[in-house]
Amino acid sequence: GTHQKVALVTGANKGIGRGAAGHLAGLGMTVLIGARDPRRGEEAAAALRAAGGDAHAVTLDVTDPATVREAAKQVEERFGRLDVLINNAGITGSGQVSPEDAHDQVPSSVDPDMVRAVFETNVFGVIAVTNAMLPLLRRSSAAHIVNVSSHAASLTLASATDGPLASLPQSAAYSPSKSALNALTVQYANELRRDGILVNAVAPGFVATDSNNHTGFLTVAQGAAVLVRLATLGVDGPTGGFFGEEGAVPW
Ligand code: NDP
Repeated sequence: GTHQKVALVTGANKGIGRGAAGHLAGLGMTVLIGARDPRRGEEAAAALRAAGGDAHAVTLDVTDPATVREAAKQVEERFGRLDVLINNAGITGSGQVSPEDAHDQVPSSVDPDMVRAVFETNVFGVIAVTNAMLPLLRRSSAAHIVNVSSHAASLTLASATDGPLASLPQSAAYSPSKSALNALTVQYANELRRDGILVNAVAPGFVATDSNNHTGFLTVAQGAAVLVRLATLGVDGPTGGFFGEEGAVPW
């Protein structure tokens, strides 16, 4: 096996995931670019290799159990273990519109099938990928799992009428999916503490990506920084927490 740390980032063909993958490659890790479209995954991996990184594409649709199984098998055969898993793949449910323009997540009129689809990716997909990769993470001497959540996960911030999220539209699918992801993060952290696997959730902030039609005010590099920070914690680092660049986020 390789001495370099091996990191898998889901949804790494673009956006924040791609930014985090580039940063981890720059730190000398072997980076596996999870992508549901093999061609775009390979394109992103090739770009990282051209920049001097050790990057490989892995076909992975987090909602497709067959690709999840196959991805775990490939990582096992090629690397024998996994040191870092960043569960980054996610959807808003509103397509590529800015939060100000998204009106399809008003609770009283939301389509339950849309909510279901968002949970399928943002919550159940994380469980499927994490459980498939856990045997490989257990072989690491210091494994890290980072779940990419959002400030929108925070019930505390959402219910503060004068708080930073008060001006955002209703989010009947996306916000609850990220609250559930935070809750799951605590459950995994508690189970995996005895294995020395640190599990944390992060909030990247409002980042300019396709998911919000590039209306975010942070760059991908700025948003990815907190993912990288939690993916590279020392062995005595926190677990079961929720962090933004500003520190622990109340939720
Ligand atoms: P992008 O839309 O730019 O990227 C999302 C990535 O996830 C893409 O690679 C996409 O693949 C992938 N993806 C979506 N569904 C699946 C799936 N079923 N299987 C595998 N991959 C999938 O979004 P961002 O970079 O903005 O978002 C990344 C994460 O950050 C998400 O979890 C998001 O909720 C979170 N986040 C983003 C914020 C922001 O302001 N941008 C704020 C807070 C949180 P494909 O290209 O094939 O669609």
